Amino acid sequence: MLAEKLHIPHISTGDLLRTEIQNSTSIGLQAAEYMQVGELVPDSIMIRVLEERLRETDCKNGFILDGFPRTLNQATYLNTMLKRLNAPVDFVVSIEVDNDVIIDRLTQRQRLDDNPKTVKYRLDVYRRETAPLKDYYKREGQLKTIDGDASPLAVRDRILESIARNVSDPDH
Ligand code: AMP
Repeated sequence: MLAEKLHIPHISTGDLLRTEIQNSTSIGLQAAEYMQVGELVPDSIMIRVLEERLRETDCKNGFILDGFPRTLNQATYLNTMLKRLNAPVDFVVSIEVDNDVIIDRLTQRQRLDDNPKTVKYRLDVYRRETAPLKDYYKREGQLKTIDGDASPLAVRDRILESIARNVSDPDH
């Protein structure tokens, strides 16, 4: 929904990996083992997948990364790569939802890694590996925290409003 509004592509690293799995590529075969159990796919694989996607021409005016970076190592890599492309990160959006709401939502989806045990494990991995990124991006002044306990449309509008405020007033 954001991509449509902002006219830039939505790049979900989870989607990219699921496509690799569908196409039975060697990356897909490797990634599937981690994804099935809710583990993070190793950074070396993620970096290859993302670099390839960002080389496509639709990325030249910007893009939305969804699900990347998930580790501090990925964030450092992203900074280096975007510096090289002269395209710094504008915003980092953390959509905050209570764990019980997350579990409710995911059990309504049909994905193989959405069974309750794997979802709980993914939340653990998030807390351990990904949540620390919020402090990192807060220090960089790039973090937007959004209350995600609302409809998709309302959450989209909260995000748009938050980044628009920032564009017109860079001190906030
Ligand atoms: P998602 O579609 O974003 O929920 O991602 C589904 C799964 O793909 C995750 O549970 C991870 O196993 C893997 N994955 C997606 N993005 C990343 C990433 N940036 N780093 C490591 N693993 C990832």
